[in-house]
Amino acid sequence: MDKERIAVFPGSFDPVTVGHELLIRRALPLFDRIIVGVGNNGEKRTWFTEAERVSFLRTLFADEPKVEVASYAGLTVDFCRERGAKYILRGLRTTVDFEYEKTIAVVNKRLAADVESVFLCADAEVAFVQSAVVRDLLKHNRSVDGIVPAAIADTVRRLAAEKR
Ligand code: ADP
Repeated sequence: MDKERIAVFPGSFDPVTVGHELLIRRALPLFDRIIVGVGNNGEKRTWFTEAERVSFLRTLFADEPKVEVASYAGLTVDFCRERGAKYILRGLRTTVDFEYEKTIAVVNKRLAADVESVFLCADAEVAFVQSAVVRDLLKHNRSVDGIVPAAIADTVRRLAAEKR
């Protein structure tokens, strides 16, 4: 039997958006399992806590057995090795994403030659969606309908109100 095809989809997910959700769902047919890796990068402060970010994703994919959500600290390639993942999944929205992702992919390849980075282009309807915009809207008490997945929108709004 072929070995399981496991991908890690790393990110901050601060918070998860419809863009992330769609990308994960589109990637599902390509892999046996997708581990959404909620990164804890010491240099990057997040608005939502690690537990909140993980919980949003778990709620969103509760019905999808192929998706697992886990947090990790340290390098993504080390997390991949730990979990037996041979693919890193990332999304491309703009040429800015591309330039940034290209550098990271080259570095990751040097660190772990057996791990391939796989990129999916963002769907046009969600290519403008980014977590930073969601946070800005939430901080100013504006609607995030259609940008934050409906299944978690109430919880996201409630937690945001507590942080404002
Ligand atoms: P990071 O902090 O690593 O940039 P993000 O949570 O912002 O993490 O994003 C994680 C991944 O999801 C990245 O590959 C990013 O390009 C992708 N992504 C973010 N928003 C979208 C979107 N609207 N459409 C497609 N991919 C997206």
